[in-house]
Amino acid sequence: MKKEDLMSAELTPMKKQYYAAKAKHPDCLLFFRLGDFYEMFDEDAKTAAEVLNLTLTTRDRNKPPEQRTPMCGVPYHSADAYISRLIARGYKVAICEQTEDPAQAKGLVDREIIRVVTPGTLIEENMLREGENNFLASLWAGAEGAGLCFGDISTGEVFVTGFPAGDWQSPAAGELSRFEPRELLLSPGASEPSLLTWLEQTPCRVERSAEEKFLPDQAAELTKKQFGDELEKLPRECGPMLRALGALLAYLYDTQKTDLSYLHTLRYYAAGGFLCLDPVARRNLELTETLRGKEKKGSLLWVMDRTRTAMGGRLLRSWLERPLLDPVPISRRLEAVGFLVDDLVVRGELTELLRGVTDLERLISRISYGTAGARDLVALSVGLAKLPQLRDLLPANKPKLLASLRKELTGLPELCALIDAAIVDEPPFSVREGGIIRDGYNADVDRLRTILTDTRGVIARLEADEKERTGIKSLKIGYNKVFGYYIEVSKSYLNQVPETYIRKQTLANGERYITQDLKEMEHTILSAQDRITALEYQLFCQVRDQAAAQGAAVQALAAAAAQVDVLTAFATVAAENSYCMPTVDLSDKIEITEGRHPVVEKMRSDTFFVPNDTRMDGKENLAAIITGPNMAGKSTYMRQVALIVLMAQMGSFVPARSARIGVVDRIFTRIGASDDLAGGQSTFMVEMTEVAELLRHATSKSLLILDEIGRGTSTYDGMSIARAVLEWCADPKKLGAKTLFATHYHELTVLEGQLAGVKNYNIAARKKKDEIIFLRKIVPGGADQSYGIEVAGLAGLPPKVIRRAKEILKELESQEKAPRKPSAREEDQVSLEAMGEQEVLDVLRNTAVESLTPLQAMNLLYELKEKL
Ligand code: ADP
Repeated sequence: MKKEDLMSAELTPMKKQYYAAKAKHPDCLLFFRLGDFYEMFDEDAKTAAEVLNLTLTTRDRNKPPEQRTPMCGVPYHSADAYISRLIARGYKVAICEQTEDPAQAKGLVDREIIRVVTPGTLIEENMLREGENNFLASLWAGAEGAGLCFGDISTGEVFVTGFPAGDWQSPAAGELSRFEPRELLLSPGASEPSLLTWLEQTPCRVERSAEEKFLPDQAAELTKKQFGDELEKLPRECGPMLRALGALLAYLYDTQKTDLSYLHTLRYYAAGGFLCLDPVARRNLELTETLRGKEKKGSLLWVMDRTRTAMGGRLLRSWLERPLLDPVPISRRLEAVGFLVDDLVVRGELTELLRGVTDLERLISRISYGTAGARDLVALSVGLAKLPQLRDLLPANKPKLLASLRKELTGLPELCALIDAAIVDEPPFSVREGGIIRDGYNADVDRLRTILTDTRGVIARLEADEKERTGIKSLKIGYNKVFGYYIEVSKSYLNQVPETYIRKQTLANGERYITQDLKEMEHTILSAQDRITALEYQLFCQVRDQAAAQGAAVQALAAAAAQVDVLTAFATVAAENSYCMPTVDLSDKIEITEGRHPVVEKMRSDTFFVPNDTRMDGKENLAAIITGPNMAGKSTYMRQVALIVLMAQMGSFVPARSARIGVVDRIFTRIGASDDLAGGQSTFMVEMTEVAELLRHATSKSLLILDEIGRGTSTYDGMSIARAVLEWCADPKKLGAKTLFATHYHELTVLEGQLAGVKNYNIAARKKKDEIIFLRKIVPGGADQSYGIEVAGLAGLPPKVIRRAKEILKELESQEKAPRKPSAREEDQVSLEAMGEQEVLDVLRNTAVESLTPLQAMNLLYELKEKL
């Protein structure tokens, strides 16, 4: 239906109201409240019916089928479950509520959109994941650079950063993969095809917003209003950041339609302020989920997450995603962990206490946002009450970090006392049905409660009072539906009836009266229920507002408790798995003694994990070429080094006997195309794009993990690329980055003698008769053979095929020894290989310089230069 048609006079007033609401949020599914249901119409109904498996109906059965409006509905009390399914599928849902009591309304009930629910703006407890943030992101890019921000309205956190013009795509993707926002507002200038393609593979919903949403004037106004002096934290060139932030705020106001003043703290960080991991490295290192199954089990997070609180869980993730670069704060964390590793008793008590600390961050957000129930207030108080006990367990002076957390964990005793005095221990879910306020908190509530629970007693007391006052011994108070409560006096006492009694009925043996007091009592009794629920709600709101007023203090306490939780978790993991405290400094050394892979050793607890050493520095041991049969443990070894470095820079103990880690600025991992089948992108092109990215962004302070680079093409091409990449990485005059390079191209081992800093290693394997035994030990030198056939045998290839393969191998090896003419393709490749530096070196070696004339020498020099 066209809009004009919709608004035509034919429509019922309610339908007009519906379409007017729909027109305000055309891109959302509109949940339109009708009595006890939310109804959807037209296309919305069709979409919802399909996604939610609902039955489509119609109201206008008397019309021809093509004119009937399809509709479907969901009961309002279970709407959350339906909404969360729609959100998970990437839809936005606008909630149109009745904003006046239908009983009071004259004609059509007023309705209004009270909120738009989108993936990045969830606040409902049951739609959020406990240990994870739920970020909305906003990215603006233009000639002045790019600005990126992240806001989580469920926790009140807002982060902002910026990038220079030209080179923002890759760092922005890195940040996005780190924060994993659920929704992203993208300005037209930021809508780069490569970014969009990458985003398509993530669960993030992308909102392509118009440039008007990012205008600087509007941004300046909104950000000033929301953050005030906090904006001073931003660097001078903050235009792009403000634009991103302005659009984020505008989107929040537009969807939430409520007070967001609890988003008041701005956390600015320079994008280079943390150990940088791009999306590929993050995935390959399986930090938060496994490469293949996308599960937490088998990831580093799975090993490290021994946090006891939801806030701690989220903070651990953020530490994992943002390891530090500065040895000072890293060492602070390490000292704190060290203390907790050593003090088993304190660690045990902290762990026990932390279990009872509720999700203060999300509770205070819901309280400030106005959606909190009485149960949330109780949970807040329960959580806050634990903090002074946490504080008492922490040391007063040393280590520094724990001592400063001790100072911060003051608790909020007045707020706890208020909540405990006001709210019952186990309040009902609904805040509108009473039963919330504790006896003794408010005199009116107490009085009304007495009236309700003690109606008979109240009447009996009144009866006794009246008897006493009037001296009428036969006076009785009764009740009937016609008059309500009445006083009955028998004939013999009629002369004693006071003047204030109003006669209502004459009976055979007496009269019935009412009095002003009695009517008031009756009214009190009959309306007590309504009044008590209204009064309880009002009192609850007052307490909630008082709690909301402490929002900033609660957020600060939550942050401190989260840190205690993560540090305790680090200590628990370290103690249980025999990790050691690494020394972290600014040297160019990575020295690990008996290092282990934190995840593999836990996943394969049935077998012994063989520890291995690592010695790397910026000079003689810059790059390691690691050879060895498939399945020997090359990938495991290289990843273990990367993970140990990363854990150390998080401030965690590491799986080793001892470790000294000179901080690295970035970790890159690249896996040869044929290994990366899981992502369905096993193309050589993808591999090369990733390598290109690495070469562009790596620095001499980076750690590179290159696993079977150059496998997805022909042997000579692949080998040439692998060698060229290795030469580039390992040459201090070029990149000079610490590099672990696993390869099955044994030919590359010749580089050991040619490039200072390159060393050969292999992971030892031994042949016993026809079997291969993996020793898992890394030793100096290149591998002697590839053992490919033996590994194939292990993998279950039929013995006949294995035998035949061995025959073929023998033939090939004997041919190789005999001189043969290279094929045309090989010749091609060889000449390619021979080109460049190698050829120059060969020519130089074979030249007798002393026999050259000066002119010949000049010409030779010229020729050699040409070849480079
Ligand atoms: P490669 O990269 O050489 O093909 P992987 O690193 O994938 O080999 O290792 C193969 C398997 O060997 C791993 O899945 C792991 O279970 C086991 N493994 C690797 N390193 C070790 C070790 N140091 N100790 C025990 N088992 C190991």
